[in-house]
Amino acid sequence: MEHNDNRMLIMLGDGMSGRDVPSLGGRTTIEAANTPALDTVARLGASALMYVAGPGQPIGSDTSHMALLGYDPFAYYRGRGPLEARGVGIELQPGDVAFRCNFATIDERTRNVIDRRAGRPQFSTQPLCEAVAAACREEIDEAEVIFEASVEHRAALVLRGEGLDYRVTDVDPHEEGVPPAECRPVDGLSPEDEKRARKTAEIVNKFVAVAERVLPDHEINVKLREEGKPIINTVLPRGAGEAVALPPFSQTHEGLRGAMVVEVDLIRGLAAYADMDLIDVPGATGKRDTDELAIAAAVAESLERYDIILCNIKAPDLGGHDRDPEQKIEAIEKVDRAVGYLLDTLDWSRVVMMIGADHCTPVTVGNHTGDAVPVAFHGVGVRRDLVERYSEREAACGGVGQILGCDVLTVLRNFAGRIEKFGA
Ligand code: ZN
Ligand code: ZN
Repeated sequence: MEHNDNRMLIMLGDGMSGRDVPSLGGRTTIEAANTPALDTVARLGASALMYVAGPGQPIGSDTSHMALLGYDPFAYYRGRGPLEARGVGIELQPGDVAFRCNFATIDERTRNVIDRRAGRPQFSTQPLCEAVAAACREEIDEAEVIFEASVEHRAALVLRGEGLDYRVTDVDPHEEGVPPAECRPVDGLSPEDEKRARKTAEIVNKFVAVAERVLPDHEINVKLREEGKPIINTVLPRGAGEAVALPPFSQTHEGLRGAMVVEVDLIRGLAAYADMDLIDVPGATGKRDTDELAIAAAVAESLERYDIILCNIKAPDLGGHDRDPEQKIEAIEKVDRAVGYLLDTLDWSRVVMMIGADHCTPVTVGNHTGDAVPVAFHGVGVRRDLVERYSEREAACGGVGQILGCDVLTVLRNFAGRIEKFGA
């Protein structure tokens, strides 16, 4: 292989892909959005359909990003909690059990969950975390409780102590209109593991009880009540896990230096475990108001220093979960503007880019589905195909065919001329 330093770029709209939407005349939100830049990438380059984990397998953002970085999620994944915890800056120690949590609103009388995301608070929930953690220090002595805020309704909980086990069930019922579930050991554990999991579950249930006692009278809720808004009165832990052991990215990809520009703590945590650099972008909020041009500028600037950058803009996924086609289309158009900036800025004789999504979040479903997502490659080495537009339907005719998430780095490295021949 002749040495070169061509650069590789993965640009993702989180959950950007979807299904046919009746109110959009049967088009997907990508098809309904105005996406001149994404279409240019498809027209100048080559498209493919991508099953990120495998045909029909719905996946989370964490497992999808593992696959896209070349780590088999079925082999490495140890639950979502540790990624969220690392993402908010908690250094996990061996034996720690980590959860991702939602702040939520429950009915004060029946305890039925009214809103699993507590109205997606647009302010910091760190004071709520501190109040709950302080009360836990007084009342829970079986383990140390670390509780830190992430964006919007999200937070991370870490239990640190002797004899814990991550194999416990979610408190989050994953639906509204029912009360939070009791945490208990998962089925099928050995008696020894079961004992540790039971201890862990009991601490989690205590933590939730403490939260429900402390939160209603917190000054943030006093203010929300005054404003006539729903209060934040419980915490729903889920996705228990233990620290992930990933080989460093540069080791699994022959010395390539990789970095991420990502908005979600969960994926930021993955960067930490994969030993990839994180590039912070002021104005990248992970929400609908994110500054997509600041993100694009940071990507362009970082490509000077890294062989490969992965960038994820979160907003489209939010519109999908909210089942709001207009919101999702607006977010897709944000991704388009970021890609447009890169088309104008980068030297495409020495950069190859893939645009795409990490999974589908159809507005007709409100959650992730296992349908294939459209991707398009553009830049150095790419053999142009006949596809004219970036969309689910057109990508099915793409020149790169059908790929899996774990193929992406191989495909990019081939275009870039940065992969060794197999055989003589
Ligand atoms: Zn995602
Ligand atoms: Zn999602």
